[in-house]
Amino acid sequence: MTQIDRSTAWPYDEDGEPAAFVYQRYAHPNGAAAESALGALEGGDALLFSSGTAAVTACVFALCKPGSKLALAEGAYFGTGVTLSQFAPWGLEVVEYDQTGPPPADADVVWVESPANPVLTQPDWEAVRAHGGTVVCDATLSTPVFLRPLDEGAHVALHSATKFLTAPDNALLGATVTRDPAIQKRLYEARLRLGLSASPDSAAALERGLETLEARMRRQAKTAAELARRLDGHPAVLLVRYPGVGGVISFDVAGERVRAVESGLSVIVNRTSLGGTTSSIESRHRWEGDRIPVGLLRLSVGLEDVDVLWADLSAALA
Ligand code: PLP
Repeated sequence: MTQIDRSTAWPYDEDGEPAAFVYQRYAHPNGAAAESALGALEGGDALLFSSGTAAVTACVFALCKPGSKLALAEGAYFGTGVTLSQFAPWGLEVVEYDQTGPPPADADVVWVESPANPVLTQPDWEAVRAHGGTVVCDATLSTPVFLRPLDEGAHVALHSATKFLTAPDNALLGATVTRDPAIQKRLYEARLRLGLSASPDSAAALERGLETLEARMRRQAKTAAELARRLDGHPAVLLVRYPGVGGVISFDVAGERVRAVESGLSVIVNRTSLGGTTSSIESRHRWEGDRIPVGLLRLSVGLEDVDVLWADLSAALA
């Protein structure tokens, strides 16, 4: 592991010139090490940001200008839409579209999420590739274990690395990966000039998290697939969404029962966020209002034994 170096500035070299690292906002050793590990997994050049939301902000500055039209996948992470809406006064037009079909022809930027959190739809990649606009893919829920967005035709892969990439819910972090040097330069400038850099501690947490990513993701996906199968046959469950990859399931119960289910669990923790090693669940209607069914519960499956999780779920559902 790269030792954590929390320096904010490093000495110039013996000729009085800047050395590899100058000032923490530009770059730092832990960031560089984690970026190189993530870039290798994604097949591109990675940059870390202080959060997934900071990475979203950097993408707007790097890829959009006043008058740009951005087509955002309907049902994508609620906060992404809220962040993008902050740019309306600067002339960014955001429209939502059903990512299972073609993006609006006149969009400059197409923003897909694979799978979308929490409705778990997947983008129509053929339609995205045929579109011709700049494509951002938020692959937070897939991770490079299940999807390499740049291979599918995205120009930028984006992650809330707060989730599966880092895992034990102890680092707030975002990332972008691209193969386009011009986009990489603009994203880097946005990070540097808007002050969106990640901390060395969070970067070190990512470097450590990536070492176990594949093993965690495979186990979490296997458990999630089995839980989705069991939930599907449960009389109290109205609908199960599971895209066949990753560790997140969304399922619906009757609206009036949702609070009783989420607070009736003892192993699975009732809280927000996802992607940790410990399973968690929450009603998304609480945050997202009527764009989400009242009875929708988003379950992030951790590393616990499948039968332990099922016993907990079936007791709460009963
Ligand atoms: N993208 C997705 C899919 C998310 O689920 C989240 C957060 O939940 C974000 C982006 C934003 O990331 P962060 O919370 O690290 O700012």
